[in-house]
Amino acid sequence: MISRSKKLPPGSVIGIIGGGQLGRMLSQAAKNLEYKTVILDPIPLCPAGQVSDHQIVANYNSISAAKSLSNMCDVVTYEFENVDLECLMKISEDIDVFPSPEILRISSNRILEKQKLRNIGAPTVEFLPINSIEDFNQAKRIIGFPMIIKTASSGYDGKGQKLLKSEHDIDDYLINSINTKKSFIAEDFSDFNCEISVICARNIEGDIITFFPSENIHENHILNISIVPPRVSNKVITSARNLAINVAEALDLVGLLAVEMFLTKNNELLINELAPRPHNSGHYTMNGCETSQFTQLIKILTKQPLGNTNLSCSSVMINLLGDLWINNSSKPDFDKLNKSKNIFVHLYGKDEPRIGRKMGHINITSENISDAFIKAMEIKSKLSN
Ligand code: ADP
Ligand code: MG
Repeated sequence: MISRSKKLPPGSVIGIIGGGQLGRMLSQAAKNLEYKTVILDPIPLCPAGQVSDHQIVANYNSISAAKSLSNMCDVVTYEFENVDLECLMKISEDIDVFPSPEILRISSNRILEKQKLRNIGAPTVEFLPINSIEDFNQAKRIIGFPMIIKTASSGYDGKGQKLLKSEHDIDDYLINSINTKKSFIAEDFSDFNCEISVICARNIEGDIITFFPSENIHENHILNISIVPPRVSNKVITSARNLAINVAEALDLVGLLAVEMFLTKNNELLINELAPRPHNSGHYTMNGCETSQFTQLIKILTKQPLGNTNLSCSSVMINLLGDLWINNSSKPDFDKLNKSKNIFVHLYGKDEPRIGRKMGHINITSENISDAFIKAMEIKSKLSN
């Protein structure tokens, strides 16, 4: 069989749209494999810009910046979902864009995403698109309370979401937003046992592999802790991995796909959302696997065989939010932690801490998960004093 892929030689240039922490860690992984990176981000010296070979400082919807990016690069990817689709499609006329603009189109809109999942037979919570007050009234009848309303696009870390426990939670702001033709999705509120996610990696040859599922604990809708292996049965782990593979294949993925799921009280897996990029819940792979999610994506972008995703140890990942900097009298001190065995501090080079802003994360590894978890809780409580 003729191979569709020819490895991009070291020195080739990878374009990354978005210069946050995911772009930063992706750039660092590219460097380790001797590739160059160019970041497109409107903020000079953004986290990824600090560690890349070049940054195009421009808005994401600038067609001329998109053109410059495709001229400078051999392949382009993106690190967040609110990328300008038109620009991405322009770039893909000239060079490879992985994952495809079509995957971004679907996953950046919660309605299209859930409809796609339904069409391929993947389980989700009950949902209805809301484009008018009539739709909303219908959702109240069919889905009922409690219900979650989410903006169809542009939301992240729980932004643009509202839990409606009863009629009393419906305020003028929501009604006005629906009336002004903003598009929403109404979802049945899942009283789940726990949340897990699976990151799936697929290359241009169609080889496919999953990372070990992670159990994710959120606080105020922001990921707080990831626990790997998750505290669920082997059967659930296998089903979660298979589900992620089915979705990735149905989307003809080339790249990474993070699949967030709820495990219901009936032990049923429901897909919550998809992200065609590295994912916060996969940060454990930096110290817990032979191949990190970032290295894996670089391998895919440069058309190399997939790396081994086996777990080397158990891991707990804790996110470091700006709250730690703001709520404490002194700056958190990571020097001592950095010197400890099996504790890995990753900071994102963000100057300005804000409440809820992701500033870094810590991976704690161990032979067994309960030991890693206890250590993680100790670190968390020490840091917040
Ligand atoms: P994002 O991560 O883009 O902000 P999500 O849809 O993943 O949006 O929602 C964030 C979190 O809110 C989820 O991880 C979950 O904890 C909770 N959540 C979202 N949708 C539901 C739902 N239908 N039922 C119960 N909890 C939900
Ligand atoms: Mg989510």
